[in-house]
Amino acid sequence: MHTMGSSDGDDSTNVSTTAGKIFKIIRDHGPLYANDIVKRTGLAKSTVSEYLERLLSVGLLRDEIPEGSKRRRLKVAESAGYVVGVALGQTRLNVALCDLEAEIIDSVGGPVDLVRETPDRILARAVDFARELEERAGLGPSALFGLGFSLPSPVDYAQGFPVNPPVMPGWDHFPVASYLAQEFTCPVFVDNDVNVMALAERDKGAASTPAYRKASFMLVKAGSGIGAGIVIDGEIYRGAKGAAGDIGHIGIDGDETLCRCGNRGCLEAVAGGRALAAAAEAAAASGRSPFLAEVLGRGNAVDMETLARGAASGDETCIQLICLAGSQIGNVMAKLVNFFNPPLIVISGSLVKLGERFLASIRESIYHRSTPLATADLVVKKSALLERGATMGAAILVLDEVFSHRNVGKLMRRSPG
Ligand SMILES: [Zn+2]
Repeated sequence: MHTMGSSDGDDSTNVSTTAGKIFKIIRDHGPLYANDIVKRTGLAKSTVSEYLERLLSVGLLRDEIPEGSKRRRLKVAESAGYVVGVALGQTRLNVALCDLEAEIIDSVGGPVDLVRETPDRILARAVDFARELEERAGLGPSALFGLGFSLPSPVDYAQGFPVNPPVMPGWDHFPVASYLAQEFTCPVFVDNDVNVMALAERDKGAASTPAYRKASFMLVKAGSGIGAGIVIDGEIYRGAKGAAGDIGHIGIDGDETLCRCGNRGCLEAVAGGRALAAAAEAAAASGRSPFLAEVLGRGNAVDMETLARGAASGDETCIQLICLAGSQIGNVMAKLVNFFNPPLIVISGSLVKLGERFLASIRESIYHRSTPLATADLVVKKSALLERGATMGAAILVLDEVFSHRNVGKLMRRSPG
């Protein structure tokens, strides 16, 4: 649910569109000189000047004069307002206060239990965390431009609620956006975690370099669940209802492992974090892995770092488990590469902690199973943002919406500060 409706008349629609166009180019490519903006928009120089002055006067842009230059460049006034990005994971809730360029100013978080805690309780905690951040930063009542909320489940983006999330009792169709809209006067946007993580990679991570600007790419999150965020020509592709990229439930031929979705042989049931931890414990119990047996014997749980340490110490079982998970994920990704032919795939999620051997197995399977043309320029790399990606991405989700063409004109009528 988006609370920012539009009832602009014709004139103000044109103003919004032009202002939005100029603002987006500065957001995407700034800081820019006025001449560059004229070139990139194709608008008349006088029009660009007029709008730049208006955007400067309401405080959405600021100028800076680079050293050794006499001309000013325009950039987003990053401190003209703030957005909150909330990331709910299986075991943790993180909330970040970000500026208008999605840089994290302050953050707070704590553990959650998605299986046992009700949505009301978790959302109330998210609200408390956001209030705490507002207070610490000394923000006034109109300083927040919006709040973005990321969920580890399929989300109906237009409605702002999760749909049929596995192992999240009480969350199915729970009106997350409406609940939060009652607490905040700013617009609220809800999306799933892989989509917002992809936005973070687009603006701040692996896909933010000039080579991939406005490119198409996939962000694959390999954690206890497995999913993909799809970016096409710089924009998130959500599909008809928001379910695009749910690759964790693609079936592995011949596998009968029961998945938490109720089907059998799903990728995440075979190669996800839970499956790996279970396989590691079984290997410890059977005596197949002396390393894992010792870890469990000391009363420690087996996590992805443990498997990576085991592999580094030469434990054959740890190496096999890591390579098998990598190749199973890679085999599914190869099908997507043949279908979608992206130039870049970014891997994130807790399985990245398995290390380079895991990534190498993914790459090997993709190259082995995809057509040569599809992989000719393909780069597969791990995310540099990792955990920060979800909160930052939730903030970027908000910025994309509030700075859409339609809305920039509206912000121009809002008093600065
Ligand atoms: Zn499944």
